[in-house]
Formats: sequence, structure tokens, C-alpha cells
Amino acid sequence: MLHGEFLYGIFHHITSYHKQKKTIFVKPIYNAMMKNRMCEISKLEIREKEEWLINDTHSNYSIRVSVIGENIIHLTVSGYTTLRVRREVWPKVEQIIKKELVNKKCYLLHDYKDFQGGNSQSRFDYINWINNHIEEILGVYFYNVSARVSVYINAGKLFSSKLKNVFICADYKVTMAHLLAAKKSMVSRSNTILLEHTPDIFPKDWEVGKVIITKTNYRFLVVKKWTIKEKSYSVDTFLLEDNVILRIYKGHFKSENFELVASSFDDVLEECGLKEKRYHFYVDFSEVDTLGLGFRKAASKWYDMQGKYLVSSGFFHLSAVNRMAVNIARGFILSKLIRGKLFVFNTAVEVLDKIESFSVDQTPSVDAYRHLKNLDKEQLIEMIKKKDKDHHAVIWDLYSKLGRISWDVNYKLDELESSANDNNLLTDVNDAIELIQSDVKELIENRDKLVVKAEESDRVKSAFLANMSHEIRTPMNAILGFSSVLMESGELSEDLLKYSKIIHRSSVYLISLINDIIDISKIESGQLDMSLGFIPLNALLQEVDDVVLAKRKSENNKQVTYMMTNTLIDDCVSIETDAVRLKQILFNIISNALKYTVKGSVNLVVKKKGDKLLFEVSDTGVGISPLDIPNLFKRFFRSLNVAKNIQYKGTGLGLAISKACVDMLGGELMVESKLNHGSVFSFSLPMEFKK
Ligand code: ADP
Repeated sequence: MLHGEFLYGIFHHITSYHKQKKTIFVKPIYNAMMKNRMCEISKLEIREKEEWLINDTHSNYSIRVSVIGENIIHLTVSGYTTLRVRREVWPKVEQIIKKELVNKKCYLLHDYKDFQGGNSQSRFDYINWINNHIEEILGVYFYNVSARVSVYINAGKLFSSKLKNVFICADYKVTMAHLLAAKKSMVSRSNTILLEHTPDIFPKDWEVGKVIITKTNYRFLVVKKWTIKEKSYSVDTFLLEDNVILRIYKGHFKSENFELVASSFDDVLEECGLKEKRYHFYVDFSEVDTLGLGFRKAASKWYDMQGKYLVSSGFFHLSAVNRMAVNIARGFILSKLIRGKLFVFNTAVEVLDKIESFSVDQTPSVDAYRHLKNLDKEQLIEMIKKKDKDHHAVIWDLYSKLGRISWDVNYKLDELESSANDNNLLTDVNDAIELIQSDVKELIENRDKLVVKAEESDRVKSAFLANMSHEIRTPMNAILGFSSVLMESGELSEDLLKYSKIIHRSSVYLISLINDIIDISKIESGQLDMSLGFIPLNALLQEVDDVVLAKRKSENNKQVTYMMTNTLIDDCVSIETDAVRLKQILFNIISNALKYTVKGSVNLVVKKKGDKLLFEVSDTGVGISPLDIPNLFKRFFRSLNVAKNIQYKGTGLGLAISKACVDMLGGELMVESKLNHGSVFSFSLPMEFKK
């Protein structure tokens, strides 16, 4: 049954894959009309050559390579890629980078509309290739990507710390918009600052069009510059990428200058579309002479107000005096939140590092979310719900395809599926299964470790229990015994006799409490053992009766009558059971009945019911609320009615223990009750114990 189900899983997976492949798989045919086209968005020329068309000899995939402008390589990928891309695709792309691109650097764009996925080797190979060519590749973009492939791409990103500039965009338009907005000018040596070779960037180095490439290959393009020049000071403002503002202060700044400095900043925000948006803001202090107290106070206020829009901010290149001034000014800032986002750095490189740490894994900001702006709250919620649903659908799909087979740890697909003719698919499915299987193995190993641990702690627990019963019960018995001796000695004064009785009563209570706690611990650790034997019923009931009567005598409750009716007294039946536990159960239930009954009667009836023995204890007591019934057999549960708990003392252990014992003896403990009228506790046991 299970086997069939999982075969169906594989079969379904393979057939649905083939169906998909036949209908979607389209081989791009090289088209002479496509030569020398133009990209509508960037107005850049698109070049294609016949020899750039890669058709895998086994027809699994084909890739059309185009060059857009000076350094964008565009790959239209169809079908299912295998490790053959190593021989067939990458050498060609490398050649194009070398021969065709002006500065031998490129952005790699992938149209994945007809891409069906690649086997794991080809995916790893791709990551390797990118890593080896990281110097040449400025950014990697994928668009028209299926949910499944986007999972692979994101997973791929995790494998390589160098692959920071990898983006998945909705379509060609969004991709180009993002690429153009983020990297406005194409990179050449003259306008690039490589932080690998340059330890810092100074005011004179900032220039529009410059690209700063960090050690981790993150890029900052200097997009725009604004300048204000006054008599005693000047401020240059630069926009980096789309949300980093850098200001270079020069000269003397006094309180009366603040307004212009601040309002010009506002203008910049307005112009960049950053008003009420979040941005980074840093100030280069290398050419600041003085920063007056008034200016600093006003600036602090400004940070308090503007702070909620700051992703990060701070100052760099400070002289010792200015560092002190800035630190004092930081003290004026009220909001702790802002203080946490305000840094003092030594170099511009540290600033860019900080910004980069916020930007890693950022999804494209341009265009991608524009369509969300006009939606109202309800529409957004609707959209989130839909996404959530889609997401679940994908997960369920994966589960149904892989889940069933993968839980069989020993299963190997190729043993069974040698008849299937798509090796790539087999490798891929096997990879996935292996991955999940290794997870399962780990889980099982973990579970085994936990079991070993649990067994260990169980041993500790039983040792503790054994000690506890011995160490505590022995002195308790001494107290109990000697208090009895004292009471019966006849040599005690009235007061001392009274105290001895208290000692005796308390010890009886303590011993029964300890016994209950030991029992419940044993039940919970599965260590409650039974010692079975054939017990004459009459004798057993007589013993119970004796104990109950002795208890009643000591309690002297004349308002409640107690009676046991043994309907089988003449039959002299024997029952195979644990006598100690059966007596304990009956004693618990009868004690409860007597405890919770102020007036009336308590009756124990024992009779035959089918081939079982039925024990029934009824009382005319306070009864049990229907609200309490569901919890009655839980340990330490007493009643939701606090007044009842206060009026009648107890621990809430008796019924939990009784229930566990009845269960172990092969019966079921039941209760019926009517509040203020009384209760009936009953259970039936087999005459012969079935193991
Ligand atoms: P306790 O030590 O509190 O009596 P038990 O486990 O023996 O603990 O019983 C749990 C709770 O069930 C009691 O606190 C009480 O509220 C209720 N109960 C048990 N037996 C009776 C009964 N015969 N009549 C009324 N209430 C009962």
C-alpha cells in the first residue's frame, strides 16, 4: 500500500515533468531579423551573432547569447541544462567578454522564461564559474523565473559570499530599469575606485559617475552632486546609489548657518525622491574647522526629528577636537533609537562597509514594488493572502512529489527507475531525495541520542525514587511507630498526649503523600510494576472493608453510613490481579466518597458483569461539576471551585493514580456525577489478566 503510493509519487513526478517539457520546451531558432536590434528601455544596441547560439548536441537545452550595449550579456535559456554547459556555454561567454566588451566586464542577464531547471552539477558549476570570474562580472540578473528555479538561485547565493549582486526581477523591463538606475554609467578603469587597492576616499575623490567597488565586490555609484558655497563655509552633497547621501562640510559652522544647511538638505531629499523615505546619511569632516555649539545643538534636534527616516548615519574623518564636539552633540539627542544609528568612523571605507551591511541581499528597489504603492490596505492584505496560498501550493507540490519517497531512508531511485530515460531528471530527483534522506538520518540519529539521554535520566529517576522511598519512609515509619508507643504508654500528660496525636496524624498524612508522589512519578516514568497473582476476592474485599472501617472509626463521622455489598460472596471467585494496587484503588475511591460526603451514604457494590467484575462506589455527597469532569484524572487537579478545594483537603493525586492503576489492570475508571446529589465511580476488571 505504502510502496504503491510512493511509486505513484515518482511516476506522477516524472510524467508531469515530461508533459511539461514537451509543451513548453521551445528551441530558439536563430533569426536574421534579430540582428542589430535596439533595447527599447535603455536605447542600447542589441548584438547577436550566429555563432553565439548554443544548441546542446543532445538537445536538452539551448542558449541564445546577445550583447546589449557595451557590457551587458543577455542569455535566453531554454530547456534543461546539464554539466555540458561547462564545455559549450562558458567558453563562449568568456570569449565574448574578452573580445566584444569594451572593458572586459559585464552584467549577466538571464531570461528564464523557457528554462526548465538544471541538474545539480550544472548549478554548482555555474556558481563556480561565477566565482572564478567575479572580477569580470558586475551583476547577475534573472527574470521570468519560476518559483522552483528562484529557490535554486537563492540557494546558490548562499553558497557564495561573493555573489552579492544577484537579483531576481519580474521581467525584462524591471531588470533593465534596475540595472540602469543602479549602475548608471558603465564601469571603466578611470571612473572606478577599487577599495581593495585604496584604503580611504577623500573629498577630492568624490565625483559624479565614479563607481566605488568594495572588497566584497559591492558597488556604489556616485549619481549626483549639489554644492552650496557661503562666505565662511561650503557643503558638497553627493547621492550614492539611490539612498545614500554623503555631505562634505568645509570651513566654520555657526548656529546661524544651520538653517540653510538643513533646508538645502531638504531640497536634496526632495530632488532624489527620498522625502519621507529611508536613507543613509554621512558627513565627511576632514575640512571642518569649527563647529559651533549652536550649530551642534540645532543639528541634534534635527537628528531627533529626522531620525526615523535614517537607516544609518554618522560622521567620519574627524579631528580629535571635532570628535569630542560630535560626541557632546550626540548627548543632546534625546531619542536613544537615533543614537544607535549614529556612528563615528575613521574612514570612508568604514562608512561604506556599514551601509553595505544594511544593503546585503536587498531586492531591487527600482520599479519592483511601485505597483504596490497605489493599493489600499484591503487590497494589500488580499495580495499577501494570495501569495501565501501560492507559496503553500508550491510546498505541497514538492511534498507530494518528494515527501513520500524521501521518508524511506533506504530508498534509491536509480535502482528502481533504470527504465526511465531522462537521466538528468533522475539525478536531480535523486539529489533532492538524498538531501532529504540525510536530513531524515540526522533526525533519526538525534532522536536516538535523545532516547539514550532519556534512558539515562530515567535511570537517575528510578535511583532517586528507590532512595526516596527508602530514605524517607524509614524515618517516617519510626516517627509513626514511636508516636504510637508514646500515645499508648499512659505516661503522658494531657498536653503531651495531644501533641503526640498531632505528630501521629501528621506522619500518617505525610507517609500517604510520599507514597502518592512516588506512585505518580513511577507512573509517569513508566516504572509502575504490577505483581500479578490469583487473589480470592472475598478476602481482598474483607481487607478493604477492615481498613475503611478503621478509618471511619478514627474519623467518627456518624452522619454518613458506609456499606459494602459483595454479591459474589458465595461464589468464592478468584481474580488474577495485583492485590496491592486493587486495594489501593478501592481505598482511594471509597476515601474520596467519604471525604466529599457530609451526610447520607457511601456504598461499594461488587458484582459480575459479563465475564468481568464490576466495582461501583456511589455516594450522596457534594458531587462534581461538569466543568471538573474532563480534568478529573489529571495529576494535581482538584476542582475549579476554589471553595470546594479549601473546604476539603487533598492533593489531587488519588484519582490520577487510581486511573493509571485501573488502566494497567485492564479496566477503565468511569465517573458519573450530579452536583449536590452525589457521584458514582466504577470500573470493571477481567477475572483473568490478559497480557
Ligand atoms: P483529592 O486529594 O483532591 O481528593 P483526587 O485525585 O482524589 O484528589 O480527586 C480529585 C478531585 O476530584 C477532588 O479534588 C474533588 O474535587 C473531586 N472528587 C473526587 N472524588 C469525589 C467525590 N466522590 N465527590 C465529589 N468530588 C470528588
